[in-house]
Amino acid sequence: MKQYKYFLQEKDMPTHWYNVTADMKNPPPPYLHPATLNIMTPEDLAPVFPSACIEQEASREQFIEIPEEVQEIYRLWRPSPLFRAHRWEKALDTPAKIYYKWEGVSAAGSHKPNTAVAQAYYGKQDGLEGFATETGAGQWGSALSLAGQMFGLKIKVFMVAISYQQKPYRRIMMETWGGEVVASPSTQTHAGRAILEQDPDSPGSLGIAIGEALEYAMTHDGYKYALGSVVNFVLIHQTIIGLEARKQMEMAGDYPDIVIGCAGGGSNAAGLIYPFMKDKLTGDKPNLRALFVESTACPSMTRGRYAYDWGDTAKTGPVTMMHTVGHGFIPAPVHAGGLRYHGMAPTVSALLDQGFAEARAYHQIEALEAAHSFAASEGTIVAPETAHAVKATYDEAMACKESGEAKVILFNASGHGHFDLAAYDAYHRHALLDYRLEEAKLQEALKTLPKIS
Ligand SMILES: *Cc1c(COP(=O)(O)O)cnc(C)c1O
Repeated sequence: MKQYKYFLQEKDMPTHWYNVTADMKNPPPPYLHPATLNIMTPEDLAPVFPSACIEQEASREQFIEIPEEVQEIYRLWRPSPLFRAHRWEKALDTPAKIYYKWEGVSAAGSHKPNTAVAQAYYGKQDGLEGFATETGAGQWGSALSLAGQMFGLKIKVFMVAISYQQKPYRRIMMETWGGEVVASPSTQTHAGRAILEQDPDSPGSLGIAIGEALEYAMTHDGYKYALGSVVNFVLIHQTIIGLEARKQMEMAGDYPDIVIGCAGGGSNAAGLIYPFMKDKLTGDKPNLRALFVESTACPSMTRGRYAYDWGDTAKTGPVTMMHTVGHGFIPAPVHAGGLRYHGMAPTVSALLDQGFAEARAYHQIEALEAAHSFAASEGTIVAPETAHAVKATYDEAMACKESGEAKVILFNASGHGHFDLAAYDAYHRHALLDYRLEEAKLQEALKTLPKIS
């Protein structure tokens, strides 16, 4: 009898996260201060993030204990299932064995609560009253609102105005979990008011919303800032995905040849990939392929530069060495909002630069087409971001068909697409657009990188 899914018992859920920098010979270089461009100290970060998160950011410990209270909340939906896509394999007529880890089972519908819950816990430990954060389409804001509710913290969410107007459902989710959501630019910060003075109808942007959230956190006692991706402590929290998947792949009697994830800031992909990358870094599995998949609308890894850049448009956060298309770059309005970040996690960038990982970019129509084929066989309707990982899996499975190789492919299904059905609707109506990014526009954006001596 074919087995379709692999469940871990709650008692077998990993109790420690994995920190990839422990196994990297050349971990990413230090962060720089956004104003002085000198090396940033943990003290510089103290007003921004919870103290335990700052410690984890600098840590070279291989395994970091997951606090019991965090494990308890994880158990509301974790361990998450790992599926074998037998039906999709058959539909594609490929000899490849396709597995996927399903993170859409969290209440917020994605992997993001894995770090939101941890950050809320550490914030509570620091005696915080609440967190301020930004959100685009609402995935991160809803994950943090959920986590804030669990620990009795107030969550202030600056939501990009255009999404606030066009995507009410995520806002309602956030409010259901006690989050306080304001459209950004707002009148509640200097940064927001300055933009509104110039353009009262500003649609907002992620960069503006980050600026507002940081300002709010710095100017309100008892508040810090929560970040949904990019920095290493977030990636550490997400490794629960891959640590579970390792055990589940063992249950299935397979080990992946290729591990795949879609990458906006890199957190869900790294979360699945790093616990396997460990075997590549230590030399046990030199042939393992790790594939990070981005959107052609925001091609930091495939067309950007590996350089120091600011993490946000307002230049308030740390300057990090990463693959970037420039902090001022404004990507085309693709449906995969989570893939529209200008940079990439410093550890992912370093692993790419050192040849341990590969990157690839897809247009949204081909991604949605693959997601459609996946939904037809497996039922699950994935988020438009996830669709990019699905397309990469599709192409690898087709390459196996061509070569006759029965490779084992594992991808991360980072979230469901139930609030992004407009993307599927546009695809059905042939109204989805692919955007060509002009080289000149990219070069223009890259001119804004800081000059580091
Ligand atoms: C936010 C999001 C992403 C992109 O963020 P990463 O940090 O790169 O994982 C991908 N998929 C889903 C479902 C998301 O919500």
